Amino acid sequence: GNQSEVAVVTGGNRGIGLEICRQLASNGVTVVLTARDDKRGAEAVSILDSLGLSNVVFHQLDISNPLSAVRLADFVKEKFGKLDILVNNATIAGTTRSEVDNPETFRQEITGMDLMEKIGRIRKHIREPYKQAEECLRTNYHGTKAVTKALLPLLHSSSHGRIVNISSRYGLLRFFSGEELKQELNDIDKLSEQRLDELSELFLRDFKDGQLERRGWPTEGGFIAYKVSKAIMNACSRILAKEHPSLCINCVHPGFVQTDMSFQVGDLTVEEGARGALMMALAPKGGMTGGFLNLTEVAPFM
Ligand code: NDP
Repeated sequence: GNQSEVAVVTGGNRGIGLEICRQLASNGVTVVLTARDDKRGAEAVSILDSLGLSNVVFHQLDISNPLSAVRLADFVKEKFGKLDILVNNATIAGTTRSEVDNPETFRQEITGMDLMEKIGRIRKHIREPYKQAEECLRTNYHGTKAVTKALLPLLHSSSHGRIVNISSRYGLLRFFSGEELKQELNDIDKLSEQRLDELSELFLRDFKDGQLERRGWPTEGGFIAYKVSKAIMNACSRILAKEHPSLCINCVHPGFVQTDMSFQVGDLTVEEGARGALMMALAPKGGMTGGFLNLTEVAPFM
């Protein structure tokens, strides 16, 4: 019929998430913009409203709180009876920025540098304590999975359910130091969700013990927990795609984008960064599933 499509976007209050909400709403999709903080979420909705986008509603969602995911699913079910598009965008970096006293000064300092130099400087400024690594896995992997599980029945109530997982090239398996672990995470036919949960625990134990090399986790270049969380999320996305062949479930690397996560020094605007996600979110039925987009190009998970 003429009923509008409905999308849920996690972490929709700022950055790429907010831009995805804006573009989906501009394309006539009814958007449930979610945020963990009511005030920040309501502000984002009013920004979109002031742009003339009135088809956006707010609902609270802290992806690391399973109860919050269930409450969101109840809301969507009650209000729309189905969900067409889920964009899992919310993420944390698993780092502290305590070394950066003034993010604005730091941003100005690195603005003129080339991409590799910028990333190098950011890397030097971050710290990755165990507590942050744990929160990173709990949010990016377990949280995203819980949200997805809560909304899956509603995606099946759509005639064309789609899940877009905003991933990162940092989740590619090339960043792992061990061949065996790389192969295991790539062997989707053998992998199970239970094994991914186990690997998540094993990673945290190895991280705590300073034994990243032992099993072949990423060891260089920083953002270690973030890389592992995105790689496990990618594998989970591929497993779900296999288990739910009637849905389209894909991962997207947005590029290095000007958001708070990159101290606003990425080389892409949020509009450019949202392009791949929009492509997948609005793809017609029968398209790719279980795949990965590097910006807007299909690419391997390796
Ligand atoms: P930002 O840090 O700008 O925004 C992150 C968003 O996630 C915020 O809305 C934040 O909410 C939300 N969030 C964090 N934790 C939770 C939680 N527990 N529950 C609900 N919401 C939460 O990031 P970006 O916009 O840059 O990143 C968006 C996506 O793009 C992420 O998946 C990221 O990994 C990916 N990405 C980004 C790159 C870049 O260069 N920017 C590069 C590669 C990938 P709050 O405001 O409350 O903190």
